[in-house]
Amino acid sequence: MRLIEFSGPIIDGHAHVASTDFIPRSFIEGTIENVCLTLAAQGVQSSKERVFDLYVAKLQDHDCSLLTREMDAAGIQQTVLLLPDFTYALSDANLTIAEMIERHHEILERWPEKFRVFVGVDPRWGNDGVALFERAIVQYGFHGMKLYPPCGYGPSDRSLYPFYEICAAQGVPVLTHIGGTSPVLGFDTSHPLMVDQAARDFPTVDFILAHGGTTHLEQCAMMCAYRPNVFLDISAYQSMSIERLKDLFSRGVNHKIIFGTDWPVFRLQGNQKSFIDTLLSEAGPVQYLKPRDVSAFFYETINRLLSKKDRHYRPPAS
Ligand SMILES: [Zn+2]
Repeated sequence: MRLIEFSGPIIDGHAHVASTDFIPRSFIEGTIENVCLTLAAQGVQSSKERVFDLYVAKLQDHDCSLLTREMDAAGIQQTVLLLPDFTYALSDANLTIAEMIERHHEILERWPEKFRVFVGVDPRWGNDGVALFERAIVQYGFHGMKLYPPCGYGPSDRSLYPFYEICAAQGVPVLTHIGGTSPVLGFDTSHPLMVDQAARDFPTVDFILAHGGTTHLEQCAMMCAYRPNVFLDISAYQSMSIERLKDLFSRGVNHKIIFGTDWPVFRLQGNQKSFIDTLLSEAGPVQYLKPRDVSAFFYETINRLLSKKDRHYRPPAS
């Protein structure tokens, strides 16, 4: 495969620790139900148990050592690790959200340059959850909020506003899941227009529509074009026709589009290097970007959002 020349830095703006410790079993089983239906439609009969075992075998990189090797091989300098809080909506998680935050903090301490962490705390945990979130951002050096509205709350729900106040004060972005997911969760709270009220009420907070390049593309591109503090990422592009990205890149919002692989979701389909090569292949979608837009897409836009926190930082009053 011939590739377009690109030697600039790359930040993967959307990934997760590949570990069963952070994803409830029921979430995985729901996901697999859809995988089996898709395989069966292609004439591949496979039992749910077998697909489950294959899937779970790819979720054993608990400390990210494999991911750092994948990043090096793919030329990815930094990865944003997203930790959604499923623990309120699904009762079969191995750890509490506080324990998951501790584990992500350990990963960050081991590789402070390679990773940035966005953390979610379900707003229904109340004031304890707000305090937990604030500690993660202020003391642990996490860089953003990860929302998972399919767990049962809208992204403009007032219960989230105390979290957004912290995001505004600390200069960190909010990344929110858009569209469908495991069928054990609801899909009626993850439409991109549901972000609009929060984005209006918090104009200094940047909102990233996760999977916005592949799901509800019309509405996500519209939000990026007209709402100054709204961005989108292309994660899950591996499951789509590459024509869809060509379409996205033609809409005049290339300064709002962020690269992301959604590691480890597509590990059965390829590795980090192959996913970047697909984008950079001569017949791929990046050929439709101007050179300046290519570096904005792979690095500059997300880097600007991430570095806002460092520009905001004030040492605690002694
Ligand atoms: Zn994801």
